Amino acid sequence: MNIKEFLEKENIGEVRVDEELTKHTTYRVGGKCNYFVQPSSIDNLVKLIKFLKDNNIKYKVLGNGSNVIVSSNVFNGVIISLTKLNNVEIDGEYVTVEAGFSVIKLSNYLANNYLGGFEFASGIPAQIGGAVYMNAGAYKSDMSEVIEEVTFIDENCNLVTLPKEKLDFSYRHSIFQDKDYIVVKVKMKLYKVKDRDEILTLMNDRRQRRIETQPLEYPSAGSVFRNPAEDIYSGKLIEDLGLKGFSIGGAKISEKHANFIVNYNNATAEDIKKLIDLIKEKVKDKYNIDLMVEQEFVNFGD
Ligand SMILES: Cc1cc2nc3c(=O)[nH]c(=O)nc-3n(C[C@H](O)[C@H](O)[C@H](O)COP(=O)(O)OP(=O)(O)OC[C@H]3O[C@@H](n4cnc5c(N)ncnc54)[C@H](O)[C@@H]3O)c2cc1C
Repeated sequence: MNIKEFLEKENIGEVRVDEELTKHTTYRVGGKCNYFVQPSSIDNLVKLIKFLKDNNIKYKVLGNGSNVIVSSNVFNGVIISLTKLNNVEIDGEYVTVEAGFSVIKLSNYLANNYLGGFEFASGIPAQIGGAVYMNAGAYKSDMSEVIEEVTFIDENCNLVTLPKEKLDFSYRHSIFQDKDYIVVKVKMKLYKVKDRDEILTLMNDRRQRRIETQPLEYPSAGSVFRNPAEDIYSGKLIEDLGLKGFSIGGAKISEKHANFIVNYNNATAEDIKKLIDLIKEKVKDKYNIDLMVEQEFVNFGD
């Protein structure tokens, strides 16, 4: 059975053919993919992964596409979106949420249910799975602070649950970057609050601050480079080089925040990559620092 027959026969979920990936990345870049599949349940996701592995078909799981730079090449394989895995359950101070749920929606949902501890994530435009993968964070907190355990599909297509101590979390890092695992569900522990307005006000203030300091009016994927040290900011290095506003094709170094590249005029992933390479070269020449890209290049060919 080939992939077309498999997808027609098994009722895995919504399937789109030749889908434009520009629609699924926050940079609004990417080529087409042969198949874009949104499994309707965890069991269907397992079935799909098993078929793809058994048949050596290339695939990639996409969250909200907010940390990826997807090339304009055709992705010859299957892009798997977990958007339909979006159940959430609250039990006292515990919340169990599936990988496709939006982090921003969850932060509002928890605040409205008088649960605190997730406010740090209220401006991160990720899905839960992508946030776990990256150990996303802000305001000196991150996903590992609230996670109790994660359920994932392992390399042999088994569903496994491990406590956070076994998931190798560190700054913007988790075991999921090193292993062939797919996050499907996360259990988090939060704390009860009496006054939900306190949380909502804090989240609003932070949202306002992001609007003021980040170029949210343009497509981007957040900070491009890691800070080389706690007191050395990549944005400052780039700004001091006079590069704010510099552009290649439709990609530009933001005038508002030099560690953001924005797609201001139909940029391609290749424009963004050229700009990143140029920044790295100039920072190396001037400061002898090797900047590390926080975003992931997808389908550029190795
Ligand atoms: C405006 C803006 C602001 C941002 N602010 C922050 C911030 O404050 N803090 C921060 O940490 N980040 C920030 N980011 C970056 C980004 O949101 C995070 O890196 C986030 O964790 C990416 O999640 P995603 O769902 O979009 O993942 P994607 O970009 O879709 O994928 C990233 C990687 O995760 C993998 N992945 C996705 N889902 C799964 C899964 N279920 N199982 C296994 N692997 C998976 C993908 O295969 C890919 O390798 C920002 C981005 C933007 C655009």
